Amino acid sequence: MTTTNNTLSSLLFQDFQSLAAIATTPAGLKKLGALCQAHPITLWVPESLAELAQAQNLDSKIYSGSLKEQVAQLWPQYQRFVFCLATGAVVRLIAPLLQHKSTDPAVVVVDEAGQFVISLCSGHQGGADRLAEAIALQLNATPVLTGAANRLQLPGIDVLGVPFGWQKGEGDWTGVSAAIARQDAVQVIQSAGTTLWQHHLPSEHSFQFYESEETATTSIQPATPKARVWISLSERQFTSESGIPEVQWHPKVLWVGIGCERGTSRQLIEGAIQQVCQAHQLAEAAIAGIATLDLKADEVGLVELCRDRQWPLRCFSAEQLKSVPVPTPSEVVAAEVGTPSVAEAAALVGARLVPALSAPDLETEQQAVSLRVTKQIIRAADQPGAVTIAIAQAEQEYTGRSGKLWLVGTGPGQLEQITPAAQTAIAQADVVIGYSLYVDLVKPLLRPGQIVEALPITQERQRAQRAIELANWGLTVAVISSGDSGIYGMAGLVLEELRAQDWDGKTPAVRVFPGITALQAAASRVGTPLMHDFCAISLSDLLTPWVMIEKRLNAAAQADFVTALYNPRSKTRTEQIAIAQQIFLQYRDPSTPVALVRSAYREDEQVTLTTLGELLEAPIDMLTTVLIGNASTRTYADWMITPRGYLGFTPDAEPNQSP
Ligand code: SAH
Repeated sequence: MTTTNNTLSSLLFQDFQSLAAIATTPAGLKKLGALCQAHPITLWVPESLAELAQAQNLDSKIYSGSLKEQVAQLWPQYQRFVFCLATGAVVRLIAPLLQHKSTDPAVVVVDEAGQFVISLCSGHQGGADRLAEAIALQLNATPVLTGAANRLQLPGIDVLGVPFGWQKGEGDWTGVSAAIARQDAVQVIQSAGTTLWQHHLPSEHSFQFYESEETATTSIQPATPKARVWISLSERQFTSESGIPEVQWHPKVLWVGIGCERGTSRQLIEGAIQQVCQAHQLAEAAIAGIATLDLKADEVGLVELCRDRQWPLRCFSAEQLKSVPVPTPSEVVAAEVGTPSVAEAAALVGARLVPALSAPDLETEQQAVSLRVTKQIIRAADQPGAVTIAIAQAEQEYTGRSGKLWLVGTGPGQLEQITPAAQTAIAQADVVIGYSLYVDLVKPLLRPGQIVEALPITQERQRAQRAIELANWGLTVAVISSGDSGIYGMAGLVLEELRAQDWDGKTPAVRVFPGITALQAAASRVGTPLMHDFCAISLSDLLTPWVMIEKRLNAAAQADFVTALYNPRSKTRTEQIAIAQQIFLQYRDPSTPVALVRSAYREDEQVTLTTLGELLEAPIDMLTTVLIGNASTRTYADWMITPRGYLGFTPDAEPNQSP
């Protein structure tokens, strides 16, 4: 038996740590209090509100003295702030504290009426835009985002690589952002990292894409570029010579293989990596991690270096390494540790561990794992030990992130029928995957820069596999299904597939967001047909043998369950609904009320109230849910009512033609 107790909301807001909310009035306390209770946000209130906060059972921190002093004190402690205060007041409070957009915390302002959530400061890099969107969804408010990238439906260039774990290099980020905002021609030279983002831009943009510097200089350019973005392994020093602003991102594709003598100092290892990178024009920011022999797993200098630079240290046994063909094997090394190569072999094995993504519908060329730098031996006169270094390039960048799979139910059709939690999940995910009809339905929730993969309805398994692949790589993936994802939806397919792949149950982290399922949506349009015990039966025999479906129809009919029939009839599958009717007629009166609800909560919604006897005379298709009442269900005006119980129900009224 396992019992777990997870904090529910933390998954959604965990990207937004650490967060402080500041309320200074009773109305503000009410607005932010609820938010802070549901999510990991620390609520700060002045002494004057302490009693009220306590009366409302709010877990809050109390400050005394001026708010200005308090904010100055909290400023370095939190990465994100939410104020419920006039924007002008917030501007004055934070003005003396602001330094640079790359380091300032995100600041979001909520008005007291809770109508607007303003992303005030550090919209991109600080994440205020996304935080404002998430809070707006929770409060049912309008997010106010004023960055130009939002207007153009483009991802901010300064956050472009964040989902993929890319590292930002030196450059004129403000200059390039301004050029993009003016819709000037911007040259993008991407020689490393995923090009997935390029395929999910709006159709109108002014980027010119090239795979290398050579192709960029030799091709005929549609317009003279006014800015340049490099996505590569090289560290570039920009001079004013090019005359245009330039920036650089570094996808983490390099695996540094290391061999060293026992007791080699951290400084020597770090210096050696730096020296080799410089000599080969490789950016240290493009280093994904370090690979070595398992004997070195406790090598102090190496372990400390990896910890401080946040590089994963991957260790392999001599057995794993000795079979790897390398350019510079050594018999001396083989005699000593049991493999002829440590640095080169470990670099290659480390690089191969990063799974390469399949590229459905995309014609991207993927490079195989290759050794960029062969074995180099480095010593320093003033340091003990010696280091051997080799560098391999992986096919795919290492994101360094732990993936998430959010299985989201989007309800019957209208946006407002989707729970705020599900809406937030869709808006926050890096990737949204679903059947195109449902993706269209949630379009207003999507944000620029999201990877949206709409796949045809027939490819459900592929959709599940793709979602898992992207989550395994480190992305947060929302898989959307209509209604409830766990009721004849994608959630089951994804979990089945994870199980087939020997998932450890933890990574990627899975969360299911419930949605209003068709039977609830349909019921709400006709009244209260589901008021008593009920069941759902799908008439689709695609994945279930028909004999089993018949058995259930019989059981449900006999036990007097109100019954919702999903997938009642398709173009090719027309007989099943007639058989279902016959089965129910064996146990229930032909006058039993039946509701046929087609496309509930969609523009072409159609509701028909009929009876079990006349069921087949009305149009029924794959977009219809059929609700069959129980023995006590009645219609009244346009309503279908199933009583709460069978009190007053006389056996005489019970139609019983039990065989
Ligand atoms: N996961 C979905 C069910 C998918 S099975 C859910 O929980 O609702 C598909 C079937 O659901 C359709 O054949 C139809 O019977 C029913 N259905 C889905 N959306 C519907 C809607 N908006 N109105 C009526 N029936 C619907």
